[in-house]
Amino acid sequence: MQKSIFYPLILILFFSFIPYSLSADSLYLNVRIFAHRNIKTITIVPAQGKYQVFSQDKQVSELSKSITTTFKVLGKKIKMAKLDATIGIFDTIRLVPENGECLLKVRNGKEERKYQDYLKLYVSGGELYMINHVELENFVAGAVLSEAGAGKSTEFYKIQCMISRTYAIRNMRKHELEKFHQCDQVHCQLYRGVCTNRDVLEALLDTRGLVIVDSAGGPISAAFHSNSGGETTNSEDVWSLQSPYLRSIKDTFSSTMPMACWEKRIPAKEWLNYLKVKYKYPINDSVKRSQALHFKQKDRKKNFGDTIPLKNIRSDFNLKSTYFDIIPDGDILIFKGKGFGHGVGLSQEGAINMVNKGYNFEEIIKFYYKDVRIAPFDTSMIPQKK
Ligand SMILES: [Zn+2]
Repeated sequence: MQKSIFYPLILILFFSFIPYSLSADSLYLNVRIFAHRNIKTITIVPAQGKYQVFSQDKQVSELSKSITTTFKVLGKKIKMAKLDATIGIFDTIRLVPENGECLLKVRNGKEERKYQDYLKLYVSGGELYMINHVELENFVAGAVLSEAGAGKSTEFYKIQCMISRTYAIRNMRKHELEKFHQCDQVHCQLYRGVCTNRDVLEALLDTRGLVIVDSAGGPISAAFHSNSGGETTNSEDVWSLQSPYLRSIKDTFSSTMPMACWEKRIPAKEWLNYLKVKYKYPINDSVKRSQALHFKQKDRKKNFGDTIPLKNIRSDFNLKSTYFDIIPDGDILIFKGKGFGHGVGLSQEGAINMVNKGYNFEEIIKFYYKDVRIAPFDTSMIPQKK
């Protein structure tokens, strides 16, 4: 997307772990793509521009638009072939674009995706590893589209860009032991390659290089969920880690949105048996039994009774949130719930409603994250090596 004047320099720094660049404009991430697949063969063809193929700093070939190139695991090495002709067998391969406009088409089975910037290939544990060495801003655009989908407003995409960029920087060491920065799955951020959505690209430009920082100036853990149900959750109620900016707030913006309410019917017998077996809950005590069958959360609670974590109940019964009441209806209990997701941090549906009401991305971020600031990225924000 962006023409970079740093290409020769970047080539030298290609796989040094922490980028030496000083601004977000030239910060690159190493993202493992197709990380969920056990890939043995991949075909690649340039969709735009020219690519040179390097192995151990020597140019060994180039990619051509008219011929598909196949890269195949061969023991611990990669066999590169064009049509049926073997080009060579290599330890590592780097695909180097001639400029920032280039685009690679990568195909695995029926799935085809396009990527910007560089690609490195090598074999590890019998699998073909593909590392997209991608400019941070290009990555953020791709991740926002993959995570949020198309059809949202530019202002909403600005929030997602801020969250994605902040996450990418805060988690630059997440896959350090595996020698890349992030994977392309929900474990890190979903990333399916280049973004061509105009609204996302406009949001990207408007927030370029900006991140969300806490009062100490560090990038925040920008948790988000689908809908808070009217009140967000303290981080320690879900993850045991207290965070000064992930505090519970009243959030009426979420209450009128599509995922604000849910219901699930569970047999009373099954519920009581669960409490008894898993938590030794005294279901034969008439007062306790009645409490188990009539449960109310005026405000969000952390536990059911005194000690049973609601987050455990949520996961055991596959509930949309921990923010529910229990109302008996004969032998059945109606779990009447609010919201969708863990409830920590920003509510996406609440944010969409705030955008519709005229709030801007900065106001929305500051509503959901307490005492945070928007600040330009600098390299001191990258976490230190442990
Ligand atoms: Zn990951």
